[in-house]
Amino acid sequence: MAGDGGQRVAIIGAGLAGCLLAVLLGRRGVPVTVYERRPDPRVHGAERGRSINMAISARGLAALEEVGMREEALKLALPMHGRMVHPLGGEQNLQPYSADGVRAINSIGRADLNRSLLDTADDTPGVTLRFSQRVTGVDADAGTILFEGGGTERADVVLAADGAYSAVRRSLDLDVGTDFLEHGYKELTMPPKDGDFALDPDALHIWPRGGSMMIALPNLDRSFTCTLFWPKEDFGALDTPEKVTAFFRREYPDAVDLMPDLTGDFARNPVGSLVTVRAWPWTRRGDGAVVALLGDAAHAIVPFFGQGANCAFEDCIEIDRCLTETGGDWARALSRYQERRKANTDAIADLSLDNFIEMRDRVASPVYRAKQAATHSLERRLAGRYVSRYELVSFTTMPYAEIPARIRRQNLILGGAVAGGAALLGLAARALSRR
Ligand code: FAD
Repeated sequence: MAGDGGQRVAIIGAGLAGCLLAVLLGRRGVPVTVYERRPDPRVHGAERGRSINMAISARGLAALEEVGMREEALKLALPMHGRMVHPLGGEQNLQPYSADGVRAINSIGRADLNRSLLDTADDTPGVTLRFSQRVTGVDADAGTILFEGGGTERADVVLAADGAYSAVRRSLDLDVGTDFLEHGYKELTMPPKDGDFALDPDALHIWPRGGSMMIALPNLDRSFTCTLFWPKEDFGALDTPEKVTAFFRREYPDAVDLMPDLTGDFARNPVGSLVTVRAWPWTRRGDGAVVALLGDAAHAIVPFFGQGANCAFEDCIEIDRCLTETGGDWARALSRYQERRKANTDAIADLSLDNFIEMRDRVASPVYRAKQAATHSLERRLAGRYVSRYELVSFTTMPYAEIPARIRRQNLILGGAVAGGAALLGLAARALSRR
């Protein structure tokens, strides 16, 4: 399959990033073959054990817009304007995500989004999708892709979008760090209640409990997908339906009666791992092929900022942009792509780990709520000059790497503007009293 300048271009993995990149390449007239280990999910149904729904925000939507898919994706999604916090023994409270209360992140079924991307890839001239093709590695010097069962295919350019446990990455001599969180996750279902959503569908629900944490995102069929995060070893301790029910009744009393198949779900559904992958370099130039990693294959992150797919989509846009800038010179384009993206993906990896602590431990505290109210109040007064970290991550496309410095700068200016903590607390109190 000869591509740009007669080169054979292959993408490994028809997940979210692989599909979007295929569409972008097809549209620029680069023929590309996508190899996917699974059978076609549009025919055989989605694979179990991966997150059922996820949040797409400004970065993901901006990328989908590039291929005319933004509106289609939004039709598959439900907006969530804030987090609804369920404290133990207290009233649930809504914390809007943005200062204006208008901006929202969007809950979307992963399988729906993947199917929609596959359909678009199928309709894009020059894109060939090949399913049930498990890649075991790439020989960059020979210019070959290696498949389970011993088959090979020639390629000059290999773009590895084969996820956090990338077989392509493993076959290259790269510096790779994989950090597993002690917490794993298990997905549980909250079906519709009397034909309607059992909870407010306009929010991402959080039950922060320190050691464990549960979140719930709404689905179009009026159910919620709940995800329980907990140290992996603790899941095993709940080895009878009675123990599961007792634990949920103690820790999640307002949710337990809304989950009629809790014990069945708990027994059936696997415990997933949460991993941060830091690889470098992301490209390898052999005698026969240039290979590059993207998406989770290059930089899997923990899901606590809801940015993994958003960030993977940004990679695709950057590859496309670098190809334009270099006139289709793949080696230069991919080298430029990795240089531009690495600091950004490192930054969102760190921000995501920080946000776990925030979600798990802080969001329920009155001090946190006061601080958040003060932040939103400042954002409204100093529109565009003071913007919260959450807003910069979720509602802008500012490079992730610029966000920590921007927040530090804002806080410094603010520190100079207000006479110490007392004034800030006053502001928080006034902001809270208006709610
Ligand atoms: P993947 O989506 O993993 O796709 C990889 C593809 O490659 C798959 O189709 C796979 O079958 C295929 N493949 C794998 N190995 C091979 C092989 N050897 N040969 C051929 N094909 C192969 N992100 C967000 O933006 N928002 C969220 O709210 C969010 N929530 C999440 C919640 C959880 C619990 C988890 C675990 C992740 C969440 N993410 C979220 C992260 C997001 O799912 C990933 O960042 C995103 O899917 C990465 O896309 P990808 O295409 O790089 O990898």
